[in-house]
Amino acid sequence: MMHSPSVSQLFAGAPLSGQVALVTGGSRGIGLAIARQLAQLGAAIGICGRRRAALDTAAKTLGESGARVFAAVADVSRAADAEGFVSQAESALGPADILVNNAGIGRFGTAHEFSEADWDSILDTNLKGVFLVSRAVVPSMIRRRTGHIVNISSLAGKNTFAGGGVYCASKWGLQGLSGCMAEDLRQYGIRVSVVCPGSVATEFSSPGAKNVSKMLQPEDVAHAVAMLVTQAPQSFISEVLIRPTQKP
Ligand code: NDP
Repeated sequence: MMHSPSVSQLFAGAPLSGQVALVTGGSRGIGLAIARQLAQLGAAIGICGRRRAALDTAAKTLGESGARVFAAVADVSRAADAEGFVSQAESALGPADILVNNAGIGRFGTAHEFSEADWDSILDTNLKGVFLVSRAVVPSMIRRRTGHIVNISSLAGKNTFAGGGVYCASKWGLQGLSGCMAEDLRQYGIRVSVVCPGSVATEFSSPGAKNVSKMLQPEDVAHAVAMLVTQAPQSFISEVLIRPTQKP
């Protein structure tokens, strides 16, 4: 009978050694924490974002851990950028074993007061971007019969709240896309999962009245991603919801 390794065995050493992980929006916040965690577990890391300066700083930090790092300016909402990022990262590092679709933006307010441009930028980044980057990595994963695609969704993809209309629409859409892709791809040994955090202390949104010390930290999301990508081959955790222990 096959015994699964313990959690300490899974996270000991470099379980992702020889693997390549791409993290969109890896220049700061949750994406950078995920990239750092996967690098610590031994993966080579490709990151993208729209701004060069933040990417360069992130790549330097990630490289200090000894990881191979590739960083490129790319806007995931544009097909040419998404495809260019994946092909350049794979040329530099090798085919992607792990894709973390993390890049996302949030704007909040009553939906009927949103401009068409705001709707487009939120939906194009948070939902279309996942479609564009995923379709660039999937053919090679299918050929190799392996892969993890982890989509950073949100509790806003499970709930509704006043002022969340457009952001919730993007994340509910992402939940649907992820679930269907998971069913399409599991036959090839590819696991598509979603991580749904509550509020995380990043530059994404101002904490308002929230107590930052009680909020989730980017590393909490990274920990969940590490768990997902170190599962035994027969196990498929499809969704992780993360809440702070105490309400901030
Ligand atoms: P941040 O704003 O701190 O970081 C977002 C990252 O995504 C940056 O690296 C940014 O770089 C990049 N990015 C944004 N738009 C694009 C784009 N079009 N193309 C490529 N890269 C892009 O956000 P968080 O780290 O907080 O959020 C990360 C993810 O987590 C998002 O999907 C968000 O919806 C989700 N999330 C966040 C929560 C929170 O409370 N913070 C809670 C639940 C989910 P640049 O600006 O240079 O492009």
